Amino acid sequence: MSELKPTLKEIITPSNKEVIVIGEQINGEIKPVTLELLGIGKDLANKLNGKLSCVILGYNIHSLPSKLIAYGADTVYLADNKLLENYQTLPYRRVIIDLLSGFPLPPHILLLGSTTCGRDLAPRIAAYFETGLTADCTELDIGPYEHTNKIDPEKLGLYPNCLYAIRPSFGESLKARILGPWKNPQMATVRPGIMLPLKPDFNRKGNIENIMINLKPEDYRSEILEVIYEVSKGVSITEADVVIAGGFGLGKSEGFDLLRELANCFNHSAIGASRKVVDVGWIPYKHQVGQTGKTVRPKLYIACGISGAIQHRVGMNKSNLIIAINKDIDAPIFKFAHHGIVGDLYQIIPEFITQLKLIKYNKEDKILVKQD
Ligand SMILES: Cc1cc2nc3c(=O)[nH]c(=O)nc-3n(C[C@H](O)[C@H](O)[C@H](O)COP(=O)(O)OP(=O)(O)OC[C@H]3O[C@@H](n4cnc5c(N)ncnc54)[C@H](O)[C@@H]3O)c2cc1C
Repeated sequence: MSELKPTLKEIITPSNKEVIVIGEQINGEIKPVTLELLGIGKDLANKLNGKLSCVILGYNIHSLPSKLIAYGADTVYLADNKLLENYQTLPYRRVIIDLLSGFPLPPHILLLGSTTCGRDLAPRIAAYFETGLTADCTELDIGPYEHTNKIDPEKLGLYPNCLYAIRPSFGESLKARILGPWKNPQMATVRPGIMLPLKPDFNRKGNIENIMINLKPEDYRSEILEVIYEVSKGVSITEADVVIAGGFGLGKSEGFDLLRELANCFNHSAIGASRKVVDVGWIPYKHQVGQTGKTVRPKLYIACGISGAIQHRVGMNKSNLIIAINKDIDAPIFKFAHHGIVGDLYQIIPEFITQLKLIKYNKEDKILVKQD
């Protein structure tokens, strides 16, 4: 005889069905992660039958809302004020919690980038609204949750439209689906470089709502004396079309000189690295690819002397084309690289460079890796 399941009452946590992305800009440039969040935010809003909004704070940023609308926002909440010129934790927190507190019903979902600012701001907003927050997600979805645990009898029921915040756990060996169905907004931060932005439509129409700001003296517990921007030479690994990445198989820090020579054969290229070589000090952290480094999605990724540990893989496996050079035929990287070359990188790469230099693709004599 089949066991009869208790009928669960459907519990709808009240919300206005809105998905809100907390955008980031620097010097009037929208950060790529914001456009990526709008891409996934649109998908979630469609599933909820709700709207997608973006909050953007700063100074002299009146040109940004139209771009955010082109990338999918239906409404942009704009706070354009000299007091918000540079990111500061407490003033930015104040503006956002004041905005959300003024809504008759809370938004359903709040998304932030898993960036320095996003990670700083998200827990403060979550703590204020006493809601759940999942950090560093790599996938998001909407679905139901059935609460049958009698320890919380008052919570028994079926919750539709929960945010499935999915992130790697146990050293990236498992994917955990984390839910917080009790209260809205359901919050998540999302790793940069993972989600895809929508194709922009500059004819799209949307609403722009100006936010009144009302900062309090306690929002100014710190003062910015000077902003110093790191001047990085060359292309950053998250933006490069071609990433030449080196691992412990290089044997010494000078091995990166050979990789730079290889990178120099390509237009718009950058040097990546495994954590092991960063940890031993062969190259600075900003080059690290992987779970605790950056996520990259170049057109071409050449992994040189990298074993392909899961923590490295999660940062680069969305690359269009992966070529691995490794002297160990059983190295895990060969299981997911599109092309593998088994051998000593110090023999293979110089030959590779010679061959590439024979190919003249464009006027700079560098190889331009084209899409697809
Ligand atoms: C919580 C946590 C987070 C982590 N985060 C990251 C992260 O963000 N990014 C990351 O990369 N790692 C990360 N790691 C470390 C990761 O587990 C691996 O230890 C690391 O990626 C290994 O680096 P590697 O491949 O350079 O070195 P190794 O594993 O030592 O591999 C070196 C490879 O080089 C090959 N080789 C040696 N000599 C040559 C040669 N002459 N020519 C060709 N091939 C050669 C070898 O066969 C070997 O496969 C993390 C680990 C933990 C626990």
